[in-house]
Amino acid sequence: MTTRQILGQLEGLRARDLPTHGGRTLAYVYDSGVAEADELGRTALAMYGGTNGLDPTAFPSLLQMERDLVEFARPMFHGGDQMVGTVTSGGTESILLAVKTARDAADVDKPVIVVPDTIHAAFHKACHYFGVERVSVPVDPVSFRADPAAIGKALEQYGDRVVMVAVSAPSYAHGVLDPVRQVAELTRPAGVRLHVDACIGGWVLPWAEGLPPWDFAVEGVTSISADLHKYAYTPKGVSLLLYRDPGFRQAQFFASADWPGYTMLNSTVQSTKSGGPVAAAWAVVRYFGVDGYRRLAQDALAGTRAVGDGIASIDHLHVVASPDSTLVAIGVDDALDVFTLSDLMLDRGWFVQPQMSFKDFPATVHVSLSAATAPSVPEFLAALSGSVSAAVAVGPIQVDPGLRDAAAAIDPATLDDATFDALLQIAGLAEADGQVAAPPRMAAVNALLDIAPPAVREALLIAFLDRLSR
Ligand SMILES: *Cc1c(COP(=O)(O)O)cnc(C)c1O
Repeated sequence: MTTRQILGQLEGLRARDLPTHGGRTLAYVYDSGVAEADELGRTALAMYGGTNGLDPTAFPSLLQMERDLVEFARPMFHGGDQMVGTVTSGGTESILLAVKTARDAADVDKPVIVVPDTIHAAFHKACHYFGVERVSVPVDPVSFRADPAAIGKALEQYGDRVVMVAVSAPSYAHGVLDPVRQVAELTRPAGVRLHVDACIGGWVLPWAEGLPPWDFAVEGVTSISADLHKYAYTPKGVSLLLYRDPGFRQAQFFASADWPGYTMLNSTVQSTKSGGPVAAAWAVVRYFGVDGYRRLAQDALAGTRAVGDGIASIDHLHVVASPDSTLVAIGVDDALDVFTLSDLMLDRGWFVQPQMSFKDFPATVHVSLSAATAPSVPEFLAALSGSVSAAVAVGPIQVDPGLRDAAAAIDPATLDDATFDALLQIAGLAEADGQVAAPPRMAAVNALLDIAPPAVREALLIAFLDRLSR
């Protein structure tokens, strides 16, 4: 096959993906709208795609770029001259490492982290991977911000077992900034690490106005995660994990000389790792610089405010919590459901992300607003308003009571393959021949998953993923 044909096939494969550019995909991807920066990022990615970050002495260029990125971040997050950082492959890896490092540094029996209910699920994954118990405490039911009193109670209850507290800046689901200073007043005297998850806000909040301090300016914040592949608008595969001083990072590193090959020496989960993403991030960060990011952040923040104002004037919709950053959780009343609404938005060319109900919180629609979306907020609001009318016209989706009972009766722990397959059929995720595929309209599936207990929802989706990749 010729390279042209192969590239044509790659183009063809992309046809069913969500668009990464154009500002109409309001989750998963982040678009600056600056084509030159995208081109630069792609070129740098390709230039360094074959380099290996395994050994910084073999590829000093990558070490240099990592140090430069950390240097760029230092004033952004009010890091002192002792602040250090590591480039990781993404927010999840930054969080995995932060939790593992806290666990290893504390070296206690039955380690615990204390987090608000709204903390990103990457912390759940870290606990699952590293044998750490997660104590999730309720957030304030009105502001959706972490509740310092609830965190304080957990700190008392679990005492020396607590190796870390983590809060969000902002939370993914509601887009609000947790009260970092108030939480730090609890963790600092207790000698407990406090991680601020700024994965999504890290490249926006430094340029937002009127927020209370939330970064290293707050005494007691010991580490921060901030993704570049979100609002730094760099190609995927780059996040920063920053620590107040090298002592907090020490336990992150891993070395093994106990085999006949090279001494393995790693700062991150990955060992061999492409230098492409870090080079791309280095290039894009130099391109925009502080002034560029200030402008992009202000554009995205202004767009978010415009979305909030627009939603307030659309019947049946409300903003769940006043956004502190560029994320909006949209709530609906009884006349429609969010799953139908998101399908209808997709029909109109906009991807918005349904968020399922959780405890007492009803299901919502999530949007992450990029700088590239800001100029088309009026079109977005028109599509939203049209979709709401259409969703109201068909009425809220009804889940068959039989299915609801079947889902509620499942014990995910004792399910076998055959039962899973039957369930996938029920959920509409499998066809008669056993093939699985996401249906073009997701509302019926989402509505069923939404009423399933979370453990059943998890089991069904895991079975689905397993079948997808068989
Ligand atoms: C995106 C995100 C993460 C996880 O990051 P990935 O890059 O998807 O691994 C963690 N926390 C928050 C708040 C996020 O928005």
